[in-house]
Amino acid sequence: MTVPMVRRSASTVAGSGEVLRLIRTGEALTRADIGRMTGLSRPAVALRVTELLSAGLIAEDTDGPSTGGRPPARLSFNAAGGVVLAASLGASRTQIAVCDLAGAELARTDLEIDVERGPDVVLPLLMDVWADLLAGRPLSAVRGVGMGVPATVEFAAGRTESARVMASWTGVVIPPLISERYPVPVFVDNDVNVIAMGEYRASYARSVDDLLFVKVSTRIGAGVIAGGEILRGALGAAGEIGHIPVRDGGGVLCRCGNVDCVDSVASGTAILRDLRARGREVFTLADVTRLVRAGDAETMTVVRRAGRLLGEVVASAVNLLNPAVVVLGGDVAEAFQPLVSAVREVVYRRSTALSTRSLRIERSRLGPGAGITGCALMVIDHVLAPEAFDTAADAVLPAGAGMASPSQRATA
Ligand SMILES: [Zn+2]
Repeated sequence: MTVPMVRRSASTVAGSGEVLRLIRTGEALTRADIGRMTGLSRPAVALRVTELLSAGLIAEDTDGPSTGGRPPARLSFNAAGGVVLAASLGASRTQIAVCDLAGAELARTDLEIDVERGPDVVLPLLMDVWADLLAGRPLSAVRGVGMGVPATVEFAAGRTESARVMASWTGVVIPPLISERYPVPVFVDNDVNVIAMGEYRASYARSVDDLLFVKVSTRIGAGVIAGGEILRGALGAAGEIGHIPVRDGGGVLCRCGNVDCVDSVASGTAILRDLRARGREVFTLADVTRLVRAGDAETMTVVRRAGRLLGEVVASAVNLLNPAVVVLGGDVAEAFQPLVSAVREVVYRRSTALSTRSLRIERSRLGPGAGITGCALMVIDHVLAPEAFDTAADAVLPAGAGMASPSQRATA
């Protein structure tokens, strides 16, 4: 995992949060490095290092060969110095996990919860599962909570705006409901944004700044990484490509009321419907996967057509955004190579020569784990960010609970 290299202005005096950043990124390996990079005096460096050591966030390796001049002790980030709670809610599957401070999963449970049952049922259940997964770790070890939900989210407040799947969640401010039991900062974002960030940070952050993630599952959605950050738009609805209409969709009425939205003609739901209309007995995406593997001609036709229609919309997005990488994820994209091939073919044909000159179109590398990774990183990036860390360290407990501190607001 990489850590964003955000430079602070040289005029501010580096606090413990900045020292932590230098150690997390590997830019500073010793106390002398910190002094040189920040201009802090030796006692000032010592004060900050002591604070981080006692918070359990860094380790100092003091043993080494003692011949001659003692080598300087090496400082490193301690990913075991706390945990974050993560939950990726989906229409068909919800993943709940406890992760370390590097975003690695320590324990995970996948549940079949009907999210439509609403926050009153789902949130207590999530919190019970976290308690089990914490397996005796103290509440004080929890540094933050991150959730991805299938809805448009006003990120700074953690409020779901319009819920694609979960109508019963519209307008719910989630953080206070969680922080009653887990009094730490709570971050909530759209599920696809979270997955896009997880995928980006795990595989691409070192090499590119601009990435388009398209999730093809029961529904179609996208997350846009622009300049290394999630592009949210004015109301948090950026990346909602599912309701962009396609040409020659056949006049399918979408649940949004428009006709031939890409979601209504190329999603997993649409593929199942079209196969049933052609007399195939398919009930789940696994059934379709079997037919694809068996090379069933009718199934290939339907899947390739879905890929071409999706490719049309992705091509427009590529022209608009000029990403370096398009990542196709979600159950459908992961299972159906013919769909991915068809998208690729159309994008290269339809996008401008310049925008495709070095464009890569790839399948998700993290697969189903991307949601949890993204949730964990969303929390870690915020609670360990220099400004957030210094603000929180001044208070007894972070006021958190999604009540955006200035630093959260700046990045939201
Ligand atoms: Zn629609």
